[in-house]
Amino acid sequence: MACRTHDVIERAEHWGAHNYHPLPVVLTKAEGPFVWDIEGKRYLDMLSCYSALSHGHRHPRILAAAQKQMQEITLTSRAFHNVAYADFCEKLSKLAGLDMTLPMNSGAEAVETALKIARAWGYRTKKVPSGKARIIAAEGNFHGRTIAIVSFSTEEAYRAPFGPFVPGFDIVPFGDADALEKAITPETVAFLVEPIQGEGGIIIPPEGYLRRIRELCTKHNVLLMLDEVQTGLARTGKMFAFEHEGVKPDVLILGKALGGGLLPVSACVGTREVMSVLKPGEHGSTFGGMPLSMAVGNEAIDVLVEDDLSARAARLGNEVVAMLRNAKLPGVREVRGRGLLIGVEFEDFIGGAMTVVEALMHKGVLAKDTRVDTMRLAPALTIEEKDLFEGIETVMSTIREVAASRKR
Ligand code: PLP
Repeated sequence: MACRTHDVIERAEHWGAHNYHPLPVVLTKAEGPFVWDIEGKRYLDMLSCYSALSHGHRHPRILAAAQKQMQEITLTSRAFHNVAYADFCEKLSKLAGLDMTLPMNSGAEAVETALKIARAWGYRTKKVPSGKARIIAAEGNFHGRTIAIVSFSTEEAYRAPFGPFVPGFDIVPFGDADALEKAITPETVAFLVEPIQGEGGIIIPPEGYLRRIRELCTKHNVLLMLDEVQTGLARTGKMFAFEHEGVKPDVLILGKALGGGLLPVSACVGTREVMSVLKPGEHGSTFGGMPLSMAVGNEAIDVLVEDDLSARAARLGNEVVAMLRNAKLPGVREVRGRGLLIGVEFEDFIGGAMTVVEALMHKGVLAKDTRVDTMRLAPALTIEEKDLFEGIETVMSTIREVAASRKR
């Protein structure tokens, strides 16, 4: 490992907590779909900060919007009004086909917001007895890292040393609408689910699942809360993944790409009936809704819409998935994808997706595993076709090399 890289990693490991296991690469510069390390080597970024960099790194329009806002006003707190906040709430509510928006910062905070809204709606509107509200989540879910959220994680690694956990959650298998119907009780207030499980390994539910769960939630007076932190905002080939089945949630949770690759911006968007259960003082965030974040969020949305990035994600994603499948790559069990959210699952003899990820790093392509055996490919939606297909060629040749070097 080169000397400057080594020095930075050593200090990071010494002074920083070890809650991640990063690849041994120190990034210092970025543009569009590319990043450069401290030694000057260029990489194609096929992770895109887990979809937060859907616009690519340092998108010129988003940088300009931030710079303009920085010349005017950046932080107000929600104790006062600001123009960019009003613009953002209107823009995002209309984009989602919903009525009201509550901006936060991280994805987990937006999920927490949704959980609180669901419980408050349960008591105030559905009239569930006080303290009895229950929320159903799906097996294999990933909604963030707070205590409440890991309380309904089914992944032991996310929960192990963090109990006692928050009560009031039930788990059903992902993709099984009948199991959801069986689990609903008069005390169920919401079903929280990802339309495609991202961290869970790019797991796409059976066709018709979203329609069925929408019907069931309506039938039983249960809120459908879709966590589109990873799938939303053009990533899967539609502006929102729920559009693939023509349904609409009661509450939509967004994050990641909402910050345009620049800032942490998240939001809970919902119907007026549901969002109106919150009263002043019951929920908030010092930085949520700040003018700088809102200006960035507004521009991030405009770029997605004006450049029709969902159509681009759909077209390029189809081509990439077809390329990867048609190549019949050794050691690949399955290729799953919707739009430019793609998972490549490896057979056991490969020794985990990290084996391929590390080999790819040496070839100048950055990707990451999700769970043990799946590699996620999620390039910027703005990536030039030439760069994308060159990157995919590198992915394919690297998989062949890794497979050849390992015994079945
Ligand atoms: N929800 C989903 C579906 C996610 O994929 C993530 C992050 O990967 C989160 C919530 C949490 O977002 P954050 O890391 O910004 O808190």
